[in-house]
Order: sequence, then C-alpha cells, then structure tokens
Amino acid sequence: MTSPTTPASRNQHYPLLFEPLQINGLTLPNRIVMGSMHTGLEDRLWDTDKLAAYYAERARGGAGLIITGGFATTRTGQLLPFAGKITNRVDVARHRRITDEVHRNGGRIAIQLIHAGRYGYTPLKVAAGSEPSPIHPFKHLKMTEQIIWHVIRTFGQSAKLAEKAGYDAVELMGGEGYLINQFLCPHTNDRTDKWGGSTENRQRFLVEIIKEVRKHVSADFPIILRQSIADFVKNGQTWDEIALMARKAQEHGVDAINTDIGWHEAGIPTIVTSVPRGAFVKFTERLRDEVSIPLIASNRINTPDFAEEILERGRVDAVSMARPMLADPDLPNKARDGRADEINTCIGCNQACLDHAFVGKKVSCLLNPRAGRETTLTLGATRRARHVAVIGAGPAGLAAAVSAAQRGHRVELFEAGESIGGQFSIAARIPGKEEFNETIRYYTRQLEINNVAVHLGKRVSAEEILDGSASNAKGDKAKFDDVIIATGVTPRIPDIPGIDHPMVMTYADAVLGHREIGKRVAVIGAGGIGFDVTEFLTVDESPTLNLKEWEQEWGVSEDLGVPGFVTKPRPLPPVREVYMVQRKPGRQGKTLGKTTGWVHRATVKMKQVEQISAASYDLIDDAGLHITLHDKEGNPTDTRVLEVDNVVVCAGQESVRELVDPLTVAGITTHVIGGADLASELDAKRAIRQGTEVAAALP
Ligand code: FAD
Ligand code: NAP
Ligand code: SF4
Repeated sequence: MTSPTTPASRNQHYPLLFEPLQINGLTLPNRIVMGSMHTGLEDRLWDTDKLAAYYAERARGGAGLIITGGFATTRTGQLLPFAGKITNRVDVARHRRITDEVHRNGGRIAIQLIHAGRYGYTPLKVAAGSEPSPIHPFKHLKMTEQIIWHVIRTFGQSAKLAEKAGYDAVELMGGEGYLINQFLCPHTNDRTDKWGGSTENRQRFLVEIIKEVRKHVSADFPIILRQSIADFVKNGQTWDEIALMARKAQEHGVDAINTDIGWHEAGIPTIVTSVPRGAFVKFTERLRDEVSIPLIASNRINTPDFAEEILERGRVDAVSMARPMLADPDLPNKARDGRADEINTCIGCNQACLDHAFVGKKVSCLLNPRAGRETTLTLGATRRARHVAVIGAGPAGLAAAVSAAQRGHRVELFEAGESIGGQFSIAARIPGKEEFNETIRYYTRQLEINNVAVHLGKRVSAEEILDGSASNAKGDKAKFDDVIIATGVTPRIPDIPGIDHPMVMTYADAVLGHREIGKRVAVIGAGGIGFDVTEFLTVDESPTLNLKEWEQEWGVSEDLGVPGFVTKPRPLPPVREVYMVQRKPGRQGKTLGKTTGWVHRATVKMKQVEQISAASYDLIDDAGLHITLHDKEGNPTDTRVLEVDNVVVCAGQESVRELVDPLTVAGITTHVIGGADLASELDAKRAIRQGTEVAAALP
C-alpha cells in the first residue's frame, strides 16, 4: 500500500505527510489530496483554460493528487443544465486540455464521476426513490430498472473516456446524498424491487457501478470511492452497512476510499468553521478494521501539523484538503520546505467557496481572491518599484500591503491599533471562529518576509502623509507615490434616547472584554455581527467546545447501530439570557451565508435566545431597553421593556474616511478600499478582494 522512503530522504518537517503513497498503479509523492470541489468553471467550454490554470497552480503547489469537481456521466445526472460532463469524444478533447496542463506542471489529477440524482438542479433528473429533494425545486423521475442499468453503464463509459483523456484516476461520488448515496440509504431508497429494501439490494447499484467501471479501465488504473461514512440524516446507513459496503468495494476493485461526511440536507454541520478540526476522522479510522486499501480522511483538516498528527495515529493513509488548497495552492510546498507559518490557512468560512457554489456563482476564496481567477488576477513583479503607503491594517490594508510588496513595491503600513487585523481580530474572539486567528498569523508572517515596514500604534494624519514625516525614509524618499486608504469602519451608534446610558456598549467593547457584562443582555441588530455577538454572550469565557460537547450539542450519536448516527441534540445551557432585536419584520439572519446561516440560526435557537423583529427602539434607561412592536403593515401593536443589565449595539458600521478628502485635494494618488470605501454589505471577502485588486493594478 505504501512505498516507504529511506530514513535519509524522509521529509524532516512532516515525515508521514511526505511519504509517497501507492494507489494501484499511481504513485503519489505525498499524502495531500486536494478533494473535489465544484468551482463553476467545469460547466462551460469557454472556461476550460481557466479551469486548467486553476488546477495547474495547485499542481505546481505540490498537491499529491488533485480531484476535480464532479463531472456527470449522463444528462440525467448533471448538477444543473449543461453542467460539466464526460460522455463523449468531444468531452475527452476538452478534458485533455486540463490533464495536459496538470501533468505539464508536475501534478496528478483524478476526475470525479457523479450522478446528482435528486440533488440535480435540472428538470431531467432521475433518482432512486420517491422522496423529493428538500434543497432543489424540480421533481424527479423514479428510476426504472432500465434507467438504472443505463446509468450503471454510463459510469463505465465515462471512466473509460476519463482514462483516455489522461486522468490518473477516477473517483466515484458515493457520498453527500448524491445518487449512489440515495440508493444506499433507506432515507431516500423506498424501492421494493431488487434495488431497495435489504442492505444487499440497496448496495447493489454501487456494486454494479464498481464492477462496470473496473471492466472499462486498465487493471492498474486507480478507482477511488468517495464513500459516505456518516450520512447524518434520519434513516441513514448504520455502521455495519457502511463497513460491509467498504469491504465489497475493495473486493470488486476499488483501490482507495476517500471518506465523506454528511448529506447536503443534514442538520449537523460538517464543514463550517465552528466544527472542531478533524471532527470526523474517527469515522475514517474505524474503517481501518474493514479494508486494507488506502483510506483518505476529510473535513476540517486544514493544517499540515494536524494532518501529520492524523497520519501518526496510523489508521489513515492520506488526508483530503479541498478548501485549504483554494486558500493556498502552495500549501504542500510550503509544508514540505518547513514554511508552514507562511500558509494562508482556510478558516472554514465558506463565504467565497460553498456559498458561491450554492447560488450558482463561480467559486473563489475569501482569503485568496485569485482562486478561480488565476489567469486574470495576477500579481506579477513590477518593473518600477513605487513607494506605497497603506493606511489601516484590517483585512483590506493587509491584503493590499502584502500583495503590493510581493510585486516588489516598497510598502509602509500604518495602523492606529497596537496590533494588526482590524475588525477581523474581533471576529476571531467569537466562539467557533478561532480559526480567524490563522489569518492574522499569516499576515504577520507575510509582512515580515515581504519587508513591509509596519508602524503599529500610529494613527496617521493627512499632513504626515503629505509632508513625508510618517515614513521611515527621509527627504524625497519619504514621499509616497501611492496611498491606499484602508481605514475601515467604526460601529454605528444609533440615535436612540438613552444611548449614552452606562449599560450600553458597542460590540467591540463587549467582545474585546473592555466592559463587564451582566446576566441579561439585549442585542440591538441581528446582522452577521449581531448573531456572532449573541453566540459570544451565551457561552462562558472559554467557549471552544471540545469534540464531545460539540457532538452532544448537535446530536451526533455515539451508538454505531443508530442509522445515520443522528440523535437528539443536548445543548449546553446558555450562560446569559439574551434578546436579539431588529427593526425589520420577519425571520432574523436572512442575510447570513447560504451554507452557514442555518448553523447560526440553529445555535441561537438552541441557546434559547428570544428573537424580536419589527421593533422600534424607544428608550434605554435603568429599567432596560424599551421597545415598540409592530404588525406587518408597520402599525404599533404593543410596547415592551426588556429588563436587561446591558445593551450591546450591533447596528452596522460607518466608514472611516477622514483621510480621503484632504489627500485627494492635495493631488495625491489615493485608492480607497474595504470598509473605508463602502461600509454597507462589507465583509472580509470584499475587503481582501479589493486589497488584492488594488495591488495588482499598481503599475
Ligand atoms: P477594518 O477591519 O475596520 O480595519 C481598518 C483598520 O484601519 C483598523 O485596524 C483601524 O485601526 C485602522 N485605522 C483607521 N484609521 C486609521 C488611521 N488614520 N491611521 C492608521 N490606522 C487607521 N467578515 C467576514 O467576512 N466574515 C465573518 O465571519 C466576519 N465576522 C465578523 C465578526 C465580528 C464580530 C466582526 C466585528 C466583524 C466580522 N466580519 C466578518 C467583518 C470583517 O471583520 C470586516 O468586514 C473587515 O474587517 C473590514 O476590513 P477593513 O480592512 O475594510 O476594515
Ligand atoms: P449587517 O449585517 O448589515 O447588520 C446590521 C444590523 O444592524 C441589522 O440587523 C440592522 O437591522 C441593524 N441596524 C442598521 N442600522 C440601524 C440603526 N440605525 N439602528 C438600529 N439598528 C440598525 O451588518 P453587521 O452585522 O454589522 O455585519 C457587518 C458585515 O460583516 C456584514 O456585511 C456581514 O456580512 C459581515 N459578517 C459576516 C459574518 C458571517 O458569518 N458571514 C459574521 C459577521 C459579520 P434593522 O435595520 O432591521 O434594525
Ligand atoms: Fe476556506 Fe473560506 Fe476560502 Fe472557502 S472561502 S476556501 S472556507 S477560507
């Protein structure tokens, strides 16, 4: 299964991670598998070169194996109309452009073959049973015996075409609630023929697919199975069924199992940042007793140190890092060379990857806006170094400073606070958002290695920029060619009678621990920050949940006999009584991320937060927060006094722009980015994107 290196040639930083791995006829140089992610570039012919460039960058970065997003084996299995597929010779020619580019850049690439079943966003879809998809609108056709055999054959055909197109392996998508998984689970398989009912019948579809694929590819061509090893849906598979399926997969010619956790409709979060790192590795480890082929662990594995730790336990052969390779394509090379502190670590926010994918937008990364834009957003070396001032070390300023310096510009960064990070440092204090500290670590290191002169505790004025006294340099050299204004935002203080009452504080004061907070709190504002702060207020001071507590809160069953491993959640009680109030009518948290919003909404519910919408704020006094409630038409219906010890204001932000006018009037070339540019709908994704783009646009 493995071909051990000699002790002398072992990587000194991560010896196990950089041990080669044999999967049938394919040798991987390391155990980092870039897991499958649909980017949106798979679907249109004209995006092929962009997709090839995206993979090539990851091949150069040292990924052991890249697995593509899912390509359908037939039209009824497409993720959406005209989505990526591999069904004929024309497709092969297109895929060749991808595999050639990856191989030219020293990489290896497997194609994922998928049939979306009831998860297809297409009117043509077919599925195992009659249960409709809760996440997509179209009705599906329940598969007839004839359609079942047709789909099985298409897997064989597509695998053959994939080998022809130069892929190094195929991965069969058997998890996440797609068609194969739909056959495996009673949750979606209500058939009464030989494809449903007993375990053997439900597993027949996958077994036949494996046999068919094996028949159509060379003997040494690797087949990887993405197997669901915890469905997290009611009536999901039991452990015995999963173990049996793994054994059958090996028996019929699968060469490695890439483990998969949770369906898209699961009520247990599986990849958001608040899921503890490696929460599901133990499921993969359990499979070790069942099969001898390589096992790949996945979900929330985002650093080489953590990956090495998993491999050290000796029950898993490789790790899947999908989003981490979006965030930093050079992750493997940096780890190999002992530069792990330079890695831009995925923070599990989903904001530019999965949240985009689920609304049909092209996938990118909050931390790395170049992801998916490798050919258009480039940071090539400048031919004429300019002296650049960046004012503000929040995400926008940090991205601008580092990107400009990487291009060879002489950059000075000014920050009023004593540390870098801006509002993002406040975010990092929120329970379940500890990963955000990795971004601060990344930028700290990048500023260092790219020789950015950092002035902390320095609130610069326009005069200091104009006369050059802000700069480290002297004389003419102190003048700046460009000034990037990234001064960000400040919390909005709404005009409410009594807003200056001592019980009132901003979200920044609350989260940074500047003020004592009582046991009963009203939060004004239910946007992203309102939700975060509410979650912060309901837990105690050391909020990071250990895995056991997290499983208890979300209802992950310890009992392997329970189908789907779903049990009743038992949340820890809240440490404060919290009210979350907004002026808008309707459900709170509508603007939260597509793939993360439901987790936040469920969390505040489990912490018994009282959510009040359609309220207006009348007064804050010693009695608490006085509000008026309104009906749908906006007419007042009732008044209430929320008897609280504190009111925390999360009512949005306003731009800090005091430097813009004086510098522009003085004729300085200024670029205004991030919150300083526009406070509404600001998030770190836009801040970092604007910072990177402004640096890329410098001459
Ligand atoms: P800021 O972060 O405001 O940074 C501006 C910096 O400029 C500050 O450090 C300030 O001190 C400095 N500055 C201002 N004036 C001067 C001056 N004259 N001289 C020198 N320095 C100056 N976003 C997300 O995308 N996802 C999240 O999950 C998320 N969660 C959040 C949770 C919380 C609790 C909070 C508070 C924010 C969250 N955000 C999140 C929002 C995100 O942090 C902001 O959108 C982002 O920080 C804005 O970046 P910025 O660089 O434009 O501004
Ligand atoms: P936001 O999402 O725009 O919410 C602002 C809240 O303040 C709203 O609930 C709004 O509700 C209320 N509000 C606005 N003006 C008010 C006023 N004058 N008086 C009283 N209430 C007022 O902004 P945010 O919560 O400050 O978040 C800032 C950004 O950070 C957002 O764009 C968000 O995307 C990002 N963020 C993202 C996440 C994430 O998980 N992805 C988490 C945190 C933050 P009403 O107008 O109905 O009262
Ligand atoms: Fe990771 Fe967020 Fe980037 Fe997605 S957008 S890859 S979750 S950092």
